[in-house]
Amino acid sequence: MNTNEPKAHIQPVRLGLDSRFRFRCHKDVACFTKCCRGINIVLTPYDIIRLKNRLGLSSTEFLALYTVPQLFEKTDLPVVTLKLLDDEASSCPFVREDGCLVYQDRPTTCRYYPLGVASLSHKEGADDDSFFFFVNEPHCLGFEEKKEWTIREWRTDQGVDIHDEINAGWTDLVVRKRSFPPNIKLTEKTKRMFFTTCYDIDQFKQFVFESTFLERYEIDPAEVEKMRTDELALLEFGFRWLIWVLFKIGEFKQKQGNPTPADAS
Ligand code: SF4
Ligand code: SF4
Repeated sequence: MNTNEPKAHIQPVRLGLDSRFRFRCHKDVACFTKCCRGINIVLTPYDIIRLKNRLGLSSTEFLALYTVPQLFEKTDLPVVTLKLLDDEASSCPFVREDGCLVYQDRPTTCRYYPLGVASLSHKEGADDDSFFFFVNEPHCLGFEEKKEWTIREWRTDQGVDIHDEINAGWTDLVVRKRSFPPNIKLTEKTKRMFFTTCYDIDQFKQFVFESTFLERYEIDPAEVEKMRTDELALLEFGFRWLIWVLFKIGEFKQKQGNPTPADAS
């Protein structure tokens, strides 16, 4: 599986939600689990939350053990990809002979496969984030099967729509940053803030509840209480906060005399 990247030199065929395709993946295909080796999987914020909870790790531990930090090629934003094993095939750490060890909590990219989604692709030519494309790897025999889907049906079947819904704030941030003029660069501090908020939810929680954060902003106490126990509420809050910090979009009331994090040195 080669993530959500269209081949750089090939303009992908743009597919919409009602585009149709034939595909089926099951344990008896000759290529079973071949797509889980030699891969480059970008992990979304919600992927990380599901995987770290599945493995009983903190997000900080999960990031250290299972991911590689990178920069999105076009947006200059931090991203994390799944760290592959150091074996001959560069296997995913979760692939086993009988399938995926974390199947119920597999990442968004794995759910979309054999489709890619442009909003998760970060190369030139993916400025319009609303289309899908075939990843088109020659070893994948699933296209020879008879089962027919629309992309809409495939997304529901694979449970990817809930992932997209929860990651919507993150996708919005990436797409907005992508449309920034390339000469406008984020500071290292802002990139670190983006990384912590989007990918290291346990660290972000510590930042919100154990720093002066709550003394600096006027936040509805009911929302604060919810964020104490609900990781998804905390993540959604984090996206809104970042969109405000980076693009001044939305409503965030600061208590008197506090600089924005982006202004603070
Ligand atoms: S997470 Fe599961 S489905 Fe995704 S590449 Fe790894 S083994 Fe395959
Ligand atoms: S049919 Fe495609 S998706 Fe399924 S195991 Fe084979 S390569 Fe992977």
